[in-house]
Amino acid sequence: MSAVGEAIEIKKAGGALDPELISTVVNGYTLGSVPDYQMSALLMAIFLRGMSYDETLALTRTMADSGPRYSFPDCVDKHSTGGVGDKVTLTALPIVAACGAPVAKLSGRGLGITGGTIDKLESIPGLSVELTEAQFERQAAQVGLAIGEAGELAPADKAIYALRDTTGTVDSLPLIGSSIVSKKAATGAGHLLYDVKCGSGAFMKTPEQARELAELLVALSKSMGVHSSALITGMDAALGRAVGNALEVRESLEFLRGEPTNPDLADLARDVARRLLSLRGIPEPGPAVERALESGAAYEKFVAFVRAQGGDADALEDLPVSGSVREVVSPDDGHVARFDATGIGRASLALGAGRENKGDPVDFGAGIEVLVSIGDMISRGQPVARLYGERNVTQAAELVEAALGLSAEPIGPTPHVLASL
Ligand code: URA
Repeated sequence: MSAVGEAIEIKKAGGALDPELISTVVNGYTLGSVPDYQMSALLMAIFLRGMSYDETLALTRTMADSGPRYSFPDCVDKHSTGGVGDKVTLTALPIVAACGAPVAKLSGRGLGITGGTIDKLESIPGLSVELTEAQFERQAAQVGLAIGEAGELAPADKAIYALRDTTGTVDSLPLIGSSIVSKKAATGAGHLLYDVKCGSGAFMKTPEQARELAELLVALSKSMGVHSSALITGMDAALGRAVGNALEVRESLEFLRGEPTNPDLADLARDVARRLLSLRGIPEPGPAVERALESGAAYEKFVAFVRAQGGDADALEDLPVSGSVREVVSPDDGHVARFDATGIGRASLALGAGRENKGDPVDFGAGIEVLVSIGDMISRGQPVARLYGERNVTQAAELVEAALGLSAEPIGPTPHVLASL
């Protein structure tokens, strides 16, 4: 029997796969000798039967080793499990770099309602996210902040993820954990913070699911030699005000310049920065973060990063967004009880800010400005969101209207950080 046939039989019966068998099958699939139909059967058996920690670690190792592995033991990195309006990378990492902790980060593009840092950065004219390993290393050392596109790292994960996406096997804890950690281990930063999103706009819908994933990510990272911790943060509503590429960069720059910013974003950016600095052993991270913001050092670091990657730093003063703007208004008086992240994400996608399928073109200037927060008392006819973009405007407006929920009763504050470990 072939190795993959053996693996399917073992998993089907609820047994455990040994590391050698995992390596043979995964490398065989990546190189093309294991066909899609057999790998799909194995993934479904894993989805249904689960994997032990040792099996999950063996899968993580095999996928991390399936391509080049970088090594930046002194650098920090963060990983978000994905959300709507999530601009923590753009806000927290310049602070961290300005405080003397170098950042080496590889990011992805957005798919579905989840935005991607690479698309956001490409809304800055001229900025290139294609860095060779040598450029990446040089920039992390000289500028202290380098963000590139995760291209050829962990090719086994890339191949398996594409198959999971079409075979209903994405939402499996061992498959998600090994997928994320294999890429982070291959990127090679020595200190890593996971921001596990929880809520209607996230992969993990409940705090229990989010905690299980956070614990797995931290444990796998430790086993892979990466010093890490995790935050569990809310994703029932979009983070901050802006959703969409150039809009999110604009909001991030406002925060870094010290201009008024929604507290959910400002607090989380500070929290993530402090935690990354403490992971890296930088003393008194709280005061260091405030100094970096008040002195303008964090903003200057972002500008230096943009220049180093070929971007037009002058364009940051007034990054272009779509000139086609429409407001959505509240249908009634009431307290905002819900402004669902999924609905806002879908509306932004419809306007052209994201892609339904890999390779779809993105309108960098499209997106949504959310004008009210959970708990706000609002009146009938008050604008609740501003839509930017020319595509599917009516559909986007309907999605935004449906995302809004009003209550006659006042709504208490919701915490942004739900837990940390
Ligand atoms: N993000 C990943 O990188 N992999 C998964 O499996 C899910 C989310």
